[in-house]
Amino acid sequence: MINLRTQGEMDTIAHAGSIIGRCHAELSKLIVPGVSTGEVDTFVEEFIVGHDGAVPAFKGLYGFPGSACISVNEEVVHGIPDTQRVLTEGDVVSVDIGVRLDGWYSDSARTFAVGPISPEARALLDVTSRALDAAMEVSVPGKHVGDIGAAVIKTCEGTSYGIIRELVGHGVGRELHEEPQVPNYGSPGHGPMLREGMVLAIEPMLSAGTPRIKTLDDGWTVITADRSLSAHFEHTVGITLDGPRILTLAEDTVGAGHPGADTP
Ligand code: MG
Ligand code: MG
Repeated sequence: MINLRTQGEMDTIAHAGSIIGRCHAELSKLIVPGVSTGEVDTFVEEFIVGHDGAVPAFKGLYGFPGSACISVNEEVVHGIPDTQRVLTEGDVVSVDIGVRLDGWYSDSARTFAVGPISPEARALLDVTSRALDAAMEVSVPGKHVGDIGAAVIKTCEGTSYGIIRELVGHGVGRELHEEPQVPNYGSPGHGPMLREGMVLAIEPMLSAGTPRIKTLDDGWTVITADRSLSAHFEHTVGITLDGPRILTLAEDTVGAGHPGADTP
């Protein structure tokens, strides 16, 4: 079942999401050569719990040990934070953060450059970010989940990048992962129709090489099968009659929020 949320419920998800947005903004300053992924994780945890009673949603979820998933270079997602894993100039690092606030979830990821990076790495980050923008743009009532994936594919046309297909976006709400699945591939007009009140985590993951992935022996870290660089950008997006509402921006533009006060 795909849940539909009221505007008030979306306001609360946006409140949770704004904590992620602000945390990501701080991380763009914190992430420099010499910082470990363990230190990044500690910052994320302290930032989240320091805001409005929020909780890091990933910590302990399915047994994950960190507060954020921090994935370096060929690592696509679910990298385990580690104080021994020190970032060096030229790395790219994806920081995926979930926040739970007042029983509602929000989910957002961003890939950062560690100091100056190669033009090839910069291009991968730029295309992945643009794929997210294009996917969000079609996230309006009457379009379909397939339009989202098709927008990702279209953005990658003319590149040799691999689109990771085995990992997908998802609905977000009372649970971090709800229906529907939101693949980064698809055909316009196919899949569930988007309706006012849906809340979706849209999250293109691209690799500079193969789209194939594998999981390391730690049981968590997903890497590209050819160890090529990977990038991941994600926002939680509300489907509204006024267009896509990005719920994980630093700027919390919503009011106090009264969940359930409105009808969808
Ligand atoms: Mg995420
Ligand atoms: Mg997600």
